[in-house]
Amino acid sequence: MRIVLMGPPGAGKGTQAVKVAEKLQVPHISTGEIFRANLAAGTPLGMEAKRYMEAGEYVPDEVTNSMVADRLAEADAAGCFILDGYPRTLAQVGELDAILAGLGTALDKVVEITANTDEVVARLLNRALEQGRADDTEEVIRRRMDVDAEQTEPLVRVYSERGLLLIVDGMGAMDEVTQRLLAALEA
Ligand code: AMP
Repeated sequence: MRIVLMGPPGAGKGTQAVKVAEKLQVPHISTGEIFRANLAAGTPLGMEAKRYMEAGEYVPDEVTNSMVADRLAEADAAGCFILDGYPRTLAQVGELDAILAGLGTALDKVVEITANTDEVVARLLNRALEQGRADDTEEVIRRRMDVDAEQTEPLVRVYSERGLLLIVDGMGAMDEVTQRLLAALEA
């Protein structure tokens, strides 16, 4: 299965993507994680991404797209993957279509995890305290929510019109949400 997982910042998307990927035995591809790994390793890609991430903005499409194209061309991603955090802009949707078409394949499902905004901000602030993520100050969190609403929310409609969209309630206990996700994907 080739799956895209969407949802607002703090909806638990990353955690759920790891769990679902484990359960379905498919690679978990998180653009945020690839950026953070590059940042930690001090690569040119990490240096480029840093200022955008720290401001709660999206890394430019050219940078993100070529990184994803490279990752999806790797052998383990042939046929199955969970994309977490990509696509996030309409341009990225077109690029992903092109990448997959070039590989002779297409998406099977897009899952949107929904969440309550107030609870999400509280969760993110909590995570900031626990993990000390540089992109998790309150101001940056609010900016990330706005950017998500402006640039990524419209993607839900695109995938819905293609008949690919599944909506899963992301509130509640972590394991419950995982069960809901797996049930939706298996239905
Ligand atoms: P995430 O861990 O998915 O919340 O991503 C962390 C940060 O990485 C985001 O706030 C963006 O700055 C950057 N990022 C991740 N995925 C993308 C994407 N698809 N397009 C642009 N920037 C991204």
